[in-house]
Amino acid sequence: MDNKNITLAEEFSPQQRVDEFKKLKPEFWKHKKLEDMSRAEWEALCDGCGKCCLNKLEIKGKIKFTNVHCRFLDCQSCLCKVYTHRFDVMPDCRDLDLPTIRENPRWLPKTCAYWLLDNGYDLPEWHPLISGNAESVNQAGMSVKNRETVSETKVREYENYIVDWQDL
Ligand code: SF4
Ligand code: SF4
Repeated sequence: MDNKNITLAEEFSPQQRVDEFKKLKPEFWKHKKLEDMSRAEWEALCDGCGKCCLNKLEIKGKIKFTNVHCRFLDCQSCLCKVYTHRFDVMPDCRDLDLPTIRENPRWLPKTCAYWLLDNGYDLPEWHPLISGNAESVNQAGMSVKNRETVSETKVREYENYIVDWQDL
């Protein structure tokens, strides 16, 4: 892959992103279906855990997560380094829309806000939309931050990196 045109600077810090949530209607996720949400509301639902950017394997009809992360995931901020043009530089990157969220077998972590809301659950208290703090997802141990992960650029046999984290 030709990476020379990739901008690695983040456009937002995690907390800048969470601060933007104040512009949204309080608890909008309790009053709107996913399909009725604005783009800003939809984006705000992401808790910033980074776990959907771990590589997965499908084995005998089940999704197995690995601790191998996409080369563009910053495991400190848990943000994508190339978010605005991610589909140009990472063909495997998935757009999160309703059909994707509802795929079976489930490939999103079971803590993912989109999956939770679509399956009748509320957001957890550590979600930044509730805490107002981008760090709360990390402090609760729900993100990839401070976990043992490895970049896909260093891995050949993904089968050797399957993990069984409780929050996947
Ligand atoms: S798993 Fe869900 S909540 Fe976590 S980063 Fe991915 S889309 Fe956002
Ligand atoms: S390119 Fe896609 S899979 Fe990779 S870090 Fe960005 S959002 Fe995640």
